[in-house]
Parts: sequence; C-alpha cells; structure tokens
Amino acid sequence: MADVKISGLHKRFGPFHAVQGIDLEIADGEFTVLVGPSGCGKSTLLRTIAGLEGISEGTIEIGGEVVNDMRPRDRDVAMVFQDYALYPHLTVERNIGFGLRARKMPADEIGRRVGRVAGMLGITPLLGRYPRQLSGGQRQRVAIGRAIVREPQIFLFDEPLSNLDAQLRDEMRGEIKRLHQDIATTMIYVTHDQIEAMTLADRIVLMRDGRIEQMGSPAELFERPVSLFVAGFLGSPRMSFLPGSVTRVDGKAGILVDGRETPLPLPAGRIPDATEVGTRVLLGLRPEHVVRAREEGAGLGTVRIEAPLELLQPTGSRTFATFRLGDAQAVAELQAHDVGSAGETIGLEINLNRASVFDAQTERAL
Ligand code: ATP
Repeated sequence: MADVKISGLHKRFGPFHAVQGIDLEIADGEFTVLVGPSGCGKSTLLRTIAGLEGISEGTIEIGGEVVNDMRPRDRDVAMVFQDYALYPHLTVERNIGFGLRARKMPADEIGRRVGRVAGMLGITPLLGRYPRQLSGGQRQRVAIGRAIVREPQIFLFDEPLSNLDAQLRDEMRGEIKRLHQDIATTMIYVTHDQIEAMTLADRIVLMRDGRIEQMGSPAELFERPVSLFVAGFLGSPRMSFLPGSVTRVDGKAGILVDGRETPLPLPAGRIPDATEVGTRVLLGLRPEHVVRAREEGAGLGTVRIEAPLELLQPTGSRTFATFRLGDAQAVAELQAHDVGSAGETIGLEINLNRASVFDAQTERAL
C-alpha cells in the first residue's frame, strides 16, 4: 500500500510561512497534481513528502506509517527533478542503475531491470552514452528511468517538463500518462502548467499562498470552480469575468451586465434563492460557453445576443472571437467555418447553464 496522508502540515522558513495547514489524502495508485502560481508552496509540499525538507507542524504518513522523522532514502519514494540531476561522469546505463548498485543488488538483476526500463522508455540505444551526449528530452527519460527502476512506492515529480520545448513537453506528458497507466503507482506531480494538470491528474490540488484553494477531479475544478482564483487559473483562453448585478423579474433571477439594458436570465437554481437583488457579481463565461447562434433558436438555459466582434484569433480548427457585452468583453469559441470578420455583428448564444457566477466582494462562487 502506498497511500499518503498529510494532516495539519505547516512549513516555515524562519518567519516565512510557506505551507499554512494542508490536509490531504492521496489514495494508492492515484495521480495527484499539485498546481498553482509561482511561490504558492507546491514544491515545498512535495519536498516535505520526499523528506528533503523538514516540517514545522503536522504529520505525513506513507502507507499508514508516520514518516516525519524518516530519512528520504528510507521512505521508498523516487523523485524526478526539473533539472534531471544526472551524474555527468556516468553512462546512461550506470545512471539508471545507480540506486540499485548503492543498494548492493546483484549485477545480473540490475542489468535485467535497467534493460526492461530502457525498453519501456525507448532509450535502449542510448545506454552507452553520457548525459552531455543527450538531448533534453532524452535526459528527462533517463531521469524518469532512474526513478522507475527502483520500483518505489511513490513517484514524486517536480516540474519535470519545464526545461523542454513545447513539442517535446507534449510528447513526454503523454509518456508520463502512459507510464502511470502501465504501472499504476501513486504519483504526485508539481507543475504550474494548467494543461499538464488537466491532462495528467486523477485529482488536482490547486494551491494559493500555502493553502489548498480547491481540490477535485479536473472536470470538477473546470466546471465548478469555487472561486474567481480557480476559475481564472484553469482554461485557455481564460474565463471572461463580466461585472453586473443580480436582478429578479417575476421571481426569476438574472444578471444585468453593466452597460446592458436587459438582464441575462439565469436557469432556475443557478444562484441561491436567497441572493439579494442588486448583489454585485461577476458573470464567468468560458469561450466554449458562447457559440454562434443556431438557426433553430436558442436551447434551454441559453440566451441569444447580437454582438460586434472586436478581435479574431484563429487557431486552425476554431477561432476565438472577442466580443462586447455591455461595458465588458468576453471571448466566444467559433468553428472555423462560422467566423465573420472583425467589426461585423453576429448572433451568439450564451449557455448560462454552464456559466459561473461569483460574488464580486468575496470572489467566491455563488
Ligand atoms: P515555483 O513554481 O516558483 O517553484 P512553488 O509553488 O513551488 O513555486 P515553493 O518553491 O514551494 O513555491 O516556495 C514557496 C515559498 O517558500 C516561496 O515564497 C519561496 O520563496 C519560499 N521558500 C522556499 N524555499 C525556501 C527556503 N529554503 N528558504 C526560505 N524561503 C523558501
């Protein structure tokens, strides 16, 4: 078993409070991604699990055993770093087998394991090379191989792909996902890249200022963000936030976006019944919540508007179109063949079933 249980964890660096009370349970075999802006404490949290950083308060359990005072090498975890941390004077084969030799494993067993892992990662032809003779992607594969070969209870990844170019990063991301599918070992992965978080995670832990802001499946965080911070962090292009206030006509709630004359009607139950008329809110619309209006009329919970297109950003298959709604701007996602031209006014359909509404003062979702 290699579940991880973190309770009441704090980490201070002198007066600086980097991790401010984390409670987190990670199931055996789960792929958890710690994500958040620079400085939010995600690497520090990972390093405390690895034992590379002591803790100020709280407990960390691995497989049911408290490891607070256990040395890193006794925790049976393997960590893959951003800078690969390979030994420059050793060949790929010796780099991968290093940890096993240190544990005095018989040479034939080491050879077998290194061979199998190299095969898995497609680096068998590189076994005789030195790190300086490898590309960035190949080096990262070797670093991952060195972690896998130890067959640890838990893998910890600290931004392993951030030194790679975009194409290689996509490729390696797929390989890490496949690796998890193949070996089903618990993995905890730190990144500030929301795409890595969305594509790799069974569960995302989104951190802010040393605390957990929200955790859940990628779909949960994406579809039901608890705050403006979460909504703005995930998704590209970003969610648009339109200031306005709550209205009620014949008992039906709506949002009057600043600068517009008619409120956008909200589907029943979309905001709590007790929300007062006039409450200042931000309506959160993702690009995919706004599409080209269909001929046959708007669906349930959607509203049709006419809006001038201000900026078009084609991506090939789709085009992101910035349009004006009242005093604010939002982005619509159009199919490539649907697009008008900048300056033109077109019919758009806003799906308010999926939109988010945030209290403008607390920045929490209503
Ligand atoms: P990044 O994505 O930039 O790596 P992060 O979320 O991983 O950010 P951490 O590296 O965990 O952030 O750092 C959290 C905070 O703790 C930062 O403000 C950092 O400056 C501080 N910090 C980290 N290590 C130390 C240290 N050894 N001494 C003092 N402060 C530290």
